[in-house]
Amino acid sequence: MTYVVTEACIRCKYTDCVDVCPVDCFREGPNMLVIDPDECIDCSLCVPECPVEAIYAEDDVPADQREFIALNAELAKQWPPIVERKEPLPDADEWAKVKHKRDQLIR
Ligand code: SF4
Ligand code: SF4
Repeated sequence: MTYVVTEACIRCKYTDCVDVCPVDCFREGPNMLVIDPDECIDCSLCVPECPVEAIYAEDDVPADQREFIALNAELAKQWPPIVERKEPLPDADEWAKVKHKRDQLIR
């Protein structure tokens, strides 16, 4: 199994999750993070750290978010690792409230 970053992360990228991951398996895109499923050890430490509840265990990903399972796997191969917390995107607080924003994802 793995943990999966879902839609809520898009344009937020608070990166609180990154600091707690013991195996540094987060990958950073322009406006979202993903988890590398080959590296994640299912420790669940990142879940409570995310202020927008974007992270789920693979088996618990809501039905309307399941495309993010494959998307995390795909994008994790393309994006570089992020191992330290950084400042969120400037308008993160506004986008944190937006539910449907898949079209905002920059690959
Ligand atoms: S804390 Fe949540 S919103 Fe922020 S980067 Fe991690 S998964 Fe994305
Ligand atoms: S579940 Fe653990 S290993 Fe997987 S991404 Fe979260 S903190 Fe990292």
